[in-house]
Amino acid sequence: MMKLAELIEQNIEELAILDSLDAGKLLSVGKSTDIPGAAELLRYYAGAADKIHGQVLKMSRPLQAYTLMEPIGVVGHIIPWNFPTSLFFTKVSPALAAGCTMVVKPAEQTPLSALYYAHLAKLAGVPDGVLNVVTGFGHTAGAAISHHMDIDMVSFTGSTEVGREIMKAAASSNLKHVSLELGGKSPLIVFDDADVDLASDIALLGFTFNKGEVCAASTRLYVQEGIYDEFEKKLVEKAKALLIGDPFDPQVRYGPQVDKVQFEKILSYIEHGKREGATLLTGGKPIGDKGYYIQPTIFTNVKENMMMVKDEIFGPVVGLMKFKSVEEAIERANESKYGLAAGIMTKDLNVANTVSRSVRAGSVWINCYFGIDNDCPFGGYKMSGFGKDFGLDALHKLKGISSTIHARST
Ligand code: ADP
Repeated sequence: MMKLAELIEQNIEELAILDSLDAGKLLSVGKSTDIPGAAELLRYYAGAADKIHGQVLKMSRPLQAYTLMEPIGVVGHIIPWNFPTSLFFTKVSPALAAGCTMVVKPAEQTPLSALYYAHLAKLAGVPDGVLNVVTGFGHTAGAAISHHMDIDMVSFTGSTEVGREIMKAAASSNLKHVSLELGGKSPLIVFDDADVDLASDIALLGFTFNKGEVCAASTRLYVQEGIYDEFEKKLVEKAKALLIGDPFDPQVRYGPQVDKVQFEKILSYIEHGKREGATLLTGGKPIGDKGYYIQPTIFTNVKENMMMVKDEIFGPVVGLMKFKSVEEAIERANESKYGLAAGIMTKDLNVANTVSRSVRAGSVWINCYFGIDNDCPFGGYKMSGFGKDFGLDALHKLKGISSTIHARST
């Protein structure tokens, strides 16, 4: 794993280019974050590989026993297209450390870097058969994994609809373990005492990072009434000033949506939002007539029962809402079928604590956003799925526990 991390670092530029070509991701972010981050994650789990212990048990009868933490078996990793490198290693690194063998199915839109990683793994000395990459479509290659009788676990990141199919397939085949990191519609709550400049920067990042193709994007934006007008003005100004274009240009803030299907889906949500009576503050249109670029889009006068506020759009679109009290913010933030992440902007420690414990979200970020880290478990509640990625929790879910029990004479 250490050797593979080194090989990745020797090929950063090339790997980042593959992800930019496949997914329209910013080359600068790939080079500075996604690719080096993959090497760091491999090292994090490599360090954990020899620290996985069982227990010696105190038995009530004349027996003695210990537990072994064993690899859970063959793991199928089915990953989406928005973070081809990061999600490949989010899945593969703990599985290698846990001693599992695996089949990885990258998304059909973004298979290139996964194939390169399979090649680097071979060069690093990962034995044949341990890390297998199978490209293909979801309903064929993906379904073959989730229905397979010899696969012991499926670890999936993707949409809630496909997550449901995978769970059904697991149940109707061999009852394989399932771990699901699914959709989100995460709230960012900005209180009156927040620094409006910082809060509007974070809000902008929250719905435009990676062109909004992020499961934890903050796409429900709740702003307290005292600073609402100032906040709205700043956010709109900043959104209008964003440079969108060629993902290979280091000045650009985001590139094109991944493909035509996604591009059209986002635009149809925008049109639907207008028909539902939401007010478009800025954006709402494609940029130019070549490539799948969409303007950063901000709606106001939106309500929790509108489709654009209920559904995950997976594009640079946000709904801005005004609230009065802490209680109202909590109640409205929880009005979602998802529970992946939430953000809070406030200087008041009591408010931060109360809200973070009351909002049902797997990750709550205070005065920051996308605080994802190797050591910190990530994964949601409700229809955002179950089973954590990152941290030691991700390692433990890939372990089975077997007990060995001996008779003893006294
Ligand atoms: P998104 O909505 O982000 O495109 P999907 O959930 O459709 O995400 O796809 C994520 C991954 O799941 C991809 O690798 C895709 O090929 C795979 N997939 C899609 N449908 C199925 C299915 N029925 N069974 C297994 N995998 C699937």
